[in-house]
Amino acid sequence: PAGGRAAPSAPSGGAAAVPAVLGADLEVPVKGGRLVRYANLDYAASAPCLAPVRDAVTAALPAYSSVHRGAGYASQLTTARYEQARHTVRSFVGARPGDAVVFTRNTTDAANLLARCLPAGTTVVVFETEHHAALLPWPDAVRLAPPEFPGEAVRAADETLAAIDGPKLLVVTAASNVTGELWPIAALTHIAHRHGARVLVDAAQLVPHRRLNLTALDLDYVMFSGHKLYAPFGAGALVGRADWLAEAEPYLHGGGASTAVTGGAGQGRPPAVEWSADPEQRHEAGTPNVLGAIALAAACDALSATGWIGPMREEERLLGLLRDGLAGIEGVHELSLWGPGHPRVGIVSFVVTGWTARRVAETLSAEYGIGVRDGRFCAHPFVRHLLDGIGHTAAGDCADGTAGAVRASIGIGTTEEHVRRLVAAVADLAARR
Ligand code: PLP
Repeated sequence: PAGGRAAPSAPSGGAAAVPAVLGADLEVPVKGGRLVRYANLDYAASAPCLAPVRDAVTAALPAYSSVHRGAGYASQLTTARYEQARHTVRSFVGARPGDAVVFTRNTTDAANLLARCLPAGTTVVVFETEHHAALLPWPDAVRLAPPEFPGEAVRAADETLAAIDGPKLLVVTAASNVTGELWPIAALTHIAHRHGARVLVDAAQLVPHRRLNLTALDLDYVMFSGHKLYAPFGAGALVGRADWLAEAEPYLHGGGASTAVTGGAGQGRPPAVEWSADPEQRHEAGTPNVLGAIALAAACDALSATGWIGPMREEERLLGLLRDGLAGIEGVHELSLWGPGHPRVGIVSFVVTGWTARRVAETLSAEYGIGVRDGRFCAHPFVRHLLDGIGHTAAGDCADGTAGAVRASIGIGTTEEHVRRLVAAVADLAARR
């Protein structure tokens, strides 16, 4: 398609070609029975799978066998692939040599894992703008109101952390799943460390778009999900300092995490368990999602090979087209915390006057073959705050009758044609109200 990237684009400056995404040719039925090429503008929910990811999984399937425990050749090969995947993820986020890389189900699982590993008495400080995955695992956390500008986020963290004694953890997103806006994670980490706090960065929406280097930024922990990174569902990672993980009781009890289980048989009392001192084994009880880890690592490799710059420039071009297009439509309002000029990844949330978000999303699908997300994007307090800010109170957007928004998100595989189609369709809807 004109201006598009449905096929892999040519490499530049030594970088590999931008890999193809699967499903780029998908055709979907629209009103009237016509078939149209699907415009997937919902990457922030789950990104389509990359061709090299499919190839890596396909290559691993013939030697599919148990990891860590089997002596057979296939077990050894599968174990080597699984541990190679861990190594790849470690490099992908620029982890320090002693950091742990624990494979989890997703970002939510990673946050909950860390929540169970906090030393006794740890105070968690979290912005109310977080996705529920980073907001809810710590019900007793100190909550910081949405800051009006990035410097206020740093000031609020500074004042709050200074007033807390004992172990502390600051939780912050790297890129918002609602607005795509980038958070000042380097400055926040610097401040947190001055107060002896650790930092957990929710990188779920950043790593599909930008290189992240945990060592350079001095982050303590990062977490992300494979399914937002062009790999299939079911695998994510928590990467970071090993000590808290190595000391905490595993939150999944079972085989693999335990190195010795003594007593218990016929003795009428529970066995004594020795948990692995290795923080990765300790927190990966049971048979792990080996293919998920291999897929996640293949996505990391494929994205790293692009050198980031080419895809980033193209994303910024398409994002600019999308935002300019929406800004030119009367009755369409974009949501943003820090203003339209603040840097962001390829995510735009908006409302259309006179339309509920649900109806916009359903109509875009049913009449135009365009996939977007609607609602509050598992960030209810933040979306409510943003909608209040623009005075949008349309009832009925969400199942509970409250207001919500529409979210369009882009990535590798998004074409100019997709973006132009969305803008034209939203203009149609806004004119129809
Ligand atoms: N954090 C952010 C910023 C997200 O966008 C999401 C997913 O929408 C999550 C965390 C949770 O990811 P998962 O559902 O894969 O656990």
